[in-house]
Amino acid sequence: MLVTRTVADFRAWRASASGTLGLVPTMGYLHEGHLSLVRAAKRDNARTAVTIFVNPTQFAPNEDLARYPRDEARDLVLLESDGVDAVFAPSPDEMYRPDASTFVSVEKLTDRLEGASRPTHFRGVTTIVLKLFQIAQPDRAYFGRKDAQQLAVIRRMVRDLNVPVEVVGLPIVREPDGLAMSSRNVNLTPEQRRAALVLSKSLRLAESLFAAGQRDAEEIRASMRSLLAAEPLAVLDYISVADASSLDELTTVDRPALVSLAARFGATRLIDNTTLDP
Ligand code: AMP
Repeated sequence: MLVTRTVADFRAWRASASGTLGLVPTMGYLHEGHLSLVRAAKRDNARTAVTIFVNPTQFAPNEDLARYPRDEARDLVLLESDGVDAVFAPSPDEMYRPDASTFVSVEKLTDRLEGASRPTHFRGVTTIVLKLFQIAQPDRAYFGRKDAQQLAVIRRMVRDLNVPVEVVGLPIVREPDGLAMSSRNVNLTPEQRRAALVLSKSLRLAESLFAAGQRDAEEIRASMRSLLAAEPLAVLDYISVADASSLDELTTVDRPALVSLAARFGATRLIDNTTLDP
């Protein structure tokens, strides 16, 4: 497995690698969620490349960039044993010149949910993802539905800017007790870790209400809100039942819906989601 640090070296590898390329962009501190993307990329493509880059432009000054978990040595062992061909792990200076002044913004889809709480987040995500696409020239790129809004935003960018890449979205990988895997879970205390189960429980509640015939979106939100309110360690950011493609809030669940939520457990902010399909 080749580990590259510079755009020039990664491009040189890409130019020499024959066949289709599957790209898996990550911020490292890998878990089974990331590895499920790697395995899908390996299945579908002649070559698989993974990027490890904690992208500063998607963190606001008050966010957790400095405390974002990192363990590159362990990540490389996992990727090597999964048969990845190349890793691109650049420094921030390699990716952004001091006078970098070009950004990619997807409008509207990014002004709600995660974007309402983190106004500059998606501009950072779309800018780095387009840069990685330009550098790697992948045939396919793999993203988790864990970050459902991110996936929708990237699909929109690729469509609107005619980027020649197939975006593949894959299911959320969970711990046995239901907590969605996340690099940030390591920052939870044992009490917060237990409390964080309220996220997946409230999504299961939404699913069971829907399965029992509930179509009133506000009733679903209200039931989820009461469950969250009963967990003292959870500080709710948002609960949403939205049209799965426009991300507009729904009154009635009469079309595919994304049910998503975000909450803080101490300093750690977690997100989770599910879909409802009438
Ligand atoms: P990150 O390293 O958090 O930027 O995540 C890199 C990619 O892995 C993104 O496409 C995420 O959506 C995906 N991912 C993260 N956690 C999970 C999970 N639990 N299940 C599936 N995909 C995930």
